[in-house]
Amino acid sequence: MPMSNSYKKRLSDILPQIVKTFGTPFHIYDEKGIKQTCQKLITTFKKNNGFKEFFAVKALPNPSIMKIVQKMGFGFDCSSTPEIELARQIGSSGEDIMFTSNNTSFNQFKNAFGNGGCTINLDDISLIEKLNPFPDLICFRYNPGPRRKGNKIIGNPVESKYGLSHDQIIDAYSRSKALGANRFGIHTMLASNELNYKYMVETTRMLLDVVEFIHEKLGITFEFINIGGGLGIPYTPDAKPFNLDAMASEIIELFNRFEIHNGWAPKLYMESGRYITGPHGVLVTCVINHKNIYRRYVGVDASMSALMRPGMYDAYHHIHIHGKPHQEKMKKVDVVGALCENIDKFAIQRDLPDTVEGDILVIHDTGAHGHSMGFNYNGHLRPKELLLKEDSSVELIRRKETMADYFSTLTFEKKILSV
Ligand SMILES: *Cc1c(COP(=O)(O)O)cnc(C)c1O
Repeated sequence: MPMSNSYKKRLSDILPQIVKTFGTPFHIYDEKGIKQTCQKLITTFKKNNGFKEFFAVKALPNPSIMKIVQKMGFGFDCSSTPEIELARQIGSSGEDIMFTSNNTSFNQFKNAFGNGGCTINLDDISLIEKLNPFPDLICFRYNPGPRRKGNKIIGNPVESKYGLSHDQIIDAYSRSKALGANRFGIHTMLASNELNYKYMVETTRMLLDVVEFIHEKLGITFEFINIGGGLGIPYTPDAKPFNLDAMASEIIELFNRFEIHNGWAPKLYMESGRYITGPHGVLVTCVINHKNIYRRYVGVDASMSALMRPGMYDAYHHIHIHGKPHQEKMKKVDVVGALCENIDKFAIQRDLPDTVEGDILVIHDTGAHGHSMGFNYNGHLRPKELLLKEDSSVELIRRKETMADYFSTLTFEKKILSV
C-alpha cells in the first residue's frame, strides 16, 4: 500500500503544472500526510503519560519539514553537529534535542553542550571521562548483544558498533551518579524498517527489565526509556502496514504493569524517522531515453544521487507513471539513472506500462532516507525538494545543487607543507 490514495490524487491533479513550473527531477512531500501521521502517533500513545517523539533528523533534514513536526510537539534526534544546528536554527533547544552520536569527537560534545545544550545519549562507557562538565541528565545507548536478534538492515547486535554492552551498564550509571548526574534515561535502537510491531514491544520489555535491574542495584529511578526508531512502512504493494495500535496498547500495558510493580514509571520516548515522513514523499522524474539490449532500459533524468536505497539496500520502491494506469500489456524494464555504476537503478525487471520520452515517473516512499542519503559521486548533483502544502500550493523548500556547489570546495587558500 505505498503512497496514500489521497496524496496520489491530490498530487496527480496538479502534477503537470508542478513539473512545468519547477522542472524535474524533484522530491515532493505532503504536509497533510505528515501531519496526519504525527497526529496518529500522538493519539495512539495518549494514554502513556509523557510520551514524546524525537523525529530522527537524518531521515529528512529539511527545516521546512522539521518545522511541521516541531509544531506537533516533537523533539529532534540528532547525530552530528550540523543536525543539532538544524534543530537549533528552527528554535529547538535543551531537552527537545537528543544527541545520539557514535564515535563522537570532543568538538561535537563541545557544540552539544553550548547554545542551550541538549540531552546527551552516550554511546560508550569510555566517553564518560570526556564529558566536562558532566551533565545533570544522562542517557546511555544499550546494546543487548546476544540477548536479542537484530533485523535485516541494522544487523546482529553482537556485530553492531553501537551502545554499551550489558556487562558495562551498571558501571556506567554508577560512575555517572558519582560524577553528579541526578537524572537518567536509557536508549536502544535495534531495528530498522521493521514491520512486525512485536519487535518494538519486545524492545520496550527489554529496556524496562534493564531499568528494573539497574534500579535494584543502584537505587536510581529513570526519567525515560527511548526505544529508538525503526518502525517500518510498507514499500511493496502487498506489505501490510505497521500495526501502531497493537504496538501502543501492548506497550502501555507493559508500562502499567511496571508502575504497579515499582510505584513509578519512566516516560516513553521514541525517535522514528521513516514512519513519520517516509510514505509522504515521492521522487518525480522524467523519461529521457529508451534502450534495448539484452534487457529493456527506461532512462530517467534522476539518478542515485537522488535516491540511494535501491542501489544500497536492494530496496523496492513502487513506481507509477503519471496518467498511465497499470494495464494488461506491461513490459519488463530496468529503470535507470546516468551514473557509471550498474547499481544506479530505481527498479530492476519491473513490469511497467509502455513509456515514451517525456512521461513522468513517480517513485514512491522517498520521504525518509531519500534526498538525505544522496551523494555527489560521478559528478551527479542532488535534486530540489518541494512541499505540497495543505492549501494545495507548492513551495520550493530546497533548490537543486548547481555546478558552483560542486566546485565550491575547490576554492581555498593555498597551503603547502614543504619538507
Ligand atoms: C536512523 C536512526 C533513527 C531513525 O530510524 P528510522 O528507521 O528512520 O525510524 C533513530 N534513532 C537512531 C539512533 C538512528 O540511528
